Amino acid sequence: MSNERTFIAIKPDGVQRGLIGPIISRFEAKGFQLVAMKLVQPGKAHLEKHYADLATKPFFAGLVQYMCSGPICAMVWEGKEVVKTGRVLLGATNPLASAPGTIRGDFAIDVGRNVCHGSDSVESAKKEIALWFKPEELMSYTPAARSWIYE
Ligand code: UDP
Ligand code: MG
Repeated sequence: MSNERTFIAIKPDGVQRGLIGPIISRFEAKGFQLVAMKLVQPGKAHLEKHYADLATKPFFAGLVQYMCSGPICAMVWEGKEVVKTGRVLLGATNPLASAPGTIRGDFAIDVGRNVCHGSDSVESAKKEIALWFKPEELMSYTPAARSWIYE
């Protein structure tokens, strides 16, 4: 199924550090398709909902504060196994453990400043896309290069 979708966000540090272009480039170059994108600063309640699964973690308050500290570039990417492969492109959560060549491995050091978010399952992708985007913000189109990417 090449129409799987994932929610990818460039966090406030990634936006401030001028990493929107480099991060988008990696997903584009891989062959994934951008179906939605916007710069947003949705506020505390929204970020607490986005990270609800982590509410009991000691780093939760700091995480929400970090995510509220500036604009976020919110995106939806589509393609075959894009949820799992998107996480591979991002790299391990702790950038000191992320492999070189991954986004976090190349662009970040601290876990609390790891520049990007990616859904961890198809199920959470669906929830996150619904939280961050209205249905009409998701574009449906056939990329011209499609048959050069998929056999
Ligand atoms: N985080 C943190 N300290 C930790 C673990 C996670 O500040 O010890 C932050 C980090 O920014 C991470 C986010 O919380 O990206 C969400 O954590 P999760 O375990 O879901 O990692 P991810 O799915 O982003 O790789
Ligand atoms: Mg996560």
